[in-house]
Order: sequence, then structure tokens, then C-alpha cells
Amino acid sequence: MSINKNSYQEITEYLELHNTTLVAVSKTKSAREIRELYDLGQRDFGENYVQELLEKQEELPKDIRWHFIGHLQSNKVKFIAPFVHLIHGVDRGSLIKEINKQAKRANRKIECLLQVHIAEEDSKFGFKPEDLPSFFARETAVPENVVIKGLMGMATFTENADLIRSEFRELKGLFDSYFNDRAEAVLSMGMSADYKIAVEEGSNMVRIGSLIFGSRTNK
Ligand SMILES: *Cc1c(COP(=O)(O)O)cnc(C)c1O
Repeated sequence: MSINKNSYQEITEYLELHNTTLVAVSKTKSAREIRELYDLGQRDFGENYVQELLEKQEELPKDIRWHFIGHLQSNKVKFIAPFVHLIHGVDRGSLIKEINKQAKRANRKIECLLQVHIAEEDSKFGFKPEDLPSFFARETAVPENVVIKGLMGMATFTENADLIRSEFRELKGLFDSYFNDRAEAVLSMGMSADYKIAVEEGSNMVRIGSLIFGSRTNK
């Protein structure tokens, strides 16, 4: 399999116009395919599985910014803590405590996004929107080696563009109320099927896999 260069170019041109960062989602794809995209200038890559990420990080150039976008088990934080660039799927307080512990050990601060559950399906992880006020009200919620940079969310898996748009709009509203005065803040929303809607609704980081790398065989 080979990457879709035309599609990559079209996406990056669109995102540049809208000041949006592309995280190329490379889960299940080979180091060779990642290298191909790297050679076109891509530096931000997203992975969902810790073991797979470790193998690729070992093998590939060290200036790649690795984003962990999957569901992270607490006992695996220690493996990625030394190098991970941004953890998107932080969905519980206990995980923040563990990330802080491992960040301290690695002598660095780790940037994280809180995952917010905006979709209709109940299979997706994340904080409920109504949990956020009390989270941000508690001073101790964010320990010193963790930086909460913004929010991440996934819309319902549906053809209904209006529903997707309203879910992204809800997430943008939450983002604005907690991160309004931070120019550096990150709102990670949008995937292959819905990234344009996400950008229209205010996303500044999209996570795109299949449009660039082709479809995945299920893992
Ligand atoms: C796999 C994945 C993506 C990319 O999905 P595509 O539809 O292939 O673009 C984005 N975000 C998360 C959290 C994922 O697990």
C-alpha cells in the first residue's frame, strides 16, 4: 500500500488556509508508509496503540511529534511519557494523576487534551460536558507536570451532517468557555469524514487517517 499524495496535498492546502494543524493518523500503517509522508514534510503523527507507537518511535526520525489519540490505560503511560508530544484522549482524573507521575519521572511536562463525550453513541470515552465545570473549578485537578492544552472530541458516526455540526459546535462552545484567552489552546476535532465541518466549526487540529493512508484493515 502507498499513501495518497494528491489527497494529502489537498488536505494540507485546505488546512493551511484555515490555520489548522494536521495530525496524520498512522495506526496499523507501516513505518515505511509513515516515512513516505515524513519525506513530504509531515511531522505530526497520531497513534492509538502503545506497543505499536513504541516500535515506530524507535525506528523513525526523532523529530516526529507523536500524538497519542487512543484510549490510554494507566499502566502504559510510563512507556510513552519520555517522548509523547500530546495526549488527546484524557478522559478521567486518575489518568491525569498517572501522567503527572510519569512526567515527573521523565523530567518534563506533558501536554494533554481532555476528551469530551459529544456523540450520541455511549461507546465513546470522555468527560461529560456537565462534568467540566467542577473539573476546572478544582485547583488540584491539574498537577504541576501536566498541562491541559485544550479539548478533543469525536462526533457521532453518521451521515447526518447537521448532527455532526451541532456536536462540533457544542464542543467549540465548551472550548471557548474554558480556553478563551489562550492563543495556544488546542481544539482537536475532525477526522477523514468530517474534517471540513470541524474546521468550519472552529477546530484548529484535525486527526486524519484513511483519506491519506487508505482504509485500514480492522485491528
Ligand atoms: C482512527 C482515528 C482517527 C482517524 O480516523 P480516519 O477516519 O481514518 O480519519 C481519528 N481520531 C481517532 C481518535 C481515531 O481513533
